Amino acid sequence: MNFANYLDMSAAESPDDLAVTDPQRDLTYRELAGETDAFANALADLGVAPGDRVALYLPNSTAFVAAYFGAMKHGAIPFPINMRFEGSEVEYVLDDAGASALVTVGQFEDAAASFETDALEHLIVAGGERGHAYGSLVAEHAGPHETHPRRNDELAELVYTSGTTGRPKGVKHTHGNLSANADGLIAAMDWTSDEVALTVCPCFHVSGLNVTTTPFIVAGAENHLLPQWDIDLALSTMAERDVTYAFFIPTMLVDVLNEGIGDHDLSSLSTVGVGGSPMPRERIDAAEELLDIRLLEGYGMTETTPLAAINTPDQDVYKAGSIGPPAREVVDVRIEDPETKEPVDTDQKGEMLWHGDTITPGYLNLPEKNDEAFVEREGKRWLRSGDVARMDADGHLFVEDRIDDMIITGGENVYPREVEEVLYGIDGVAEAAVVGAPDDRLGERIVAFVVGDVTAEDLEAGCRGTLTDYKVPREFRVVDALPKTSTRKMDKVALRERFD
Ligand code: ATP
Repeated sequence: MNFANYLDMSAAESPDDLAVTDPQRDLTYRELAGETDAFANALADLGVAPGDRVALYLPNSTAFVAAYFGAMKHGAIPFPINMRFEGSEVEYVLDDAGASALVTVGQFEDAAASFETDALEHLIVAGGERGHAYGSLVAEHAGPHETHPRRNDELAELVYTSGTTGRPKGVKHTHGNLSANADGLIAAMDWTSDEVALTVCPCFHVSGLNVTTTPFIVAGAENHLLPQWDIDLALSTMAERDVTYAFFIPTMLVDVLNEGIGDHDLSSLSTVGVGGSPMPRERIDAAEELLDIRLLEGYGMTETTPLAAINTPDQDVYKAGSIGPPAREVVDVRIEDPETKEPVDTDQKGEMLWHGDTITPGYLNLPEKNDEAFVEREGKRWLRSGDVARMDADGHLFVEDRIDDMIITGGENVYPREVEEVLYGIDGVAEAAVVGAPDDRLGERIVAFVVGDVTAEDLEAGCRGTLTDYKVPREFRVVDALPKTSTRKMDKVALRERFD
């Protein structure tokens, strides 16, 4: 089934309920479905065919949601573009996806008009001389649009990875992947149409797109989209709109902890999800205390749409530092020894592999990457995550680190995350990141970068008492800020480059 059908179902069920908002406007389900149809009609009129790729160069907004579902309803493949990409990176993904249309609005029109790409020449849905203004395009094409039928195994959307480990890779998601992700999240979190979400993570990433935006349409619930991370706007929107669920990546929650919540009334909040990168245990405890709610950590990748592991509200036990069990009836997990490829025992570390309904069929145009990422085990196809993890006797998963971030110092393997956990426990530490720097004698030496009101001596003293000698960083650098990726994750590649 075409995943866009869910919007029509929610619109038929509760047409007058609020569907999506942004700081400029509110759309009910009837209005959103109408704008989606109009946009689909406009694409058809402009010569965009089912199967064509439609680039969304839009910040989180109501227009994003309408254009996304409009393109999908028409049978085209929407793909969001990372709004932080440089012009040349945007051109790379436009060409890689073979985009035939690009949708943008207002302040982004000039940038969009300057992109040089062969595929796009015949069409830019934007303002200015080369294109069509989004608003008038939608107004001129009002009327119903018949959904283009799609099978579950057909391509529905492309999401590009942030490119921190090389060129951005186009990850394919099928209609079936999107349904499994939305249904799985709704079941895991027990969401109903009464739920109210805050979407502050970007929709050009699975965190904004497929943790709240697409599942909330399926649930017929309300979603408030914010164009960028602005802590005051996030807190005031949560208070004014009586938000019940918000999903953050750890750096955002750390910002909330560092700044506080002021006098905002967040009493409507029932759960906060966190995931996308490791969240230090000490910060999870502090955030739960500040917000007075349980923080439900989950784990996912662009390649898992992202539903993979998740702590749920109905769980019997919550384990400190666990990403939760694998999502029930959605995925299977395998933790295997990187050398022997055999499954490891309970509590033993190994590489985490995923199989199931949310797992991508593969990357676009990258046969070698597909060969590296997917392996056959016992007759099933598994996605390699590149993450080291372990599972305890109750089936709860713990991510130790990324295989590529592991430091080998003097022949000993050190997972930076263990050292970071200790650093976060030291008074005055606001943020910490640990990397390996090349070292003639040790191979790699451990270097800690820390933001906060502390000295290198305090940090060393804090580590000495807690960590085994070889795990204590050789160097502590107190800095003003730490580099982040376009999805606000800690950018360890940029930190390591400081030693090149
Ligand atoms: P790129 O592929 O461009 O390098 P990326 O790997 O950050 O970017 P994502 O798909 O956004 O792309 O991230 C997936 C990775 O994020 C996982 O493989 C894992 O390392 C990390 N991750 C996600 N959730 C968690 C979590 N709860 N705890 C620890 N790590 C997590």
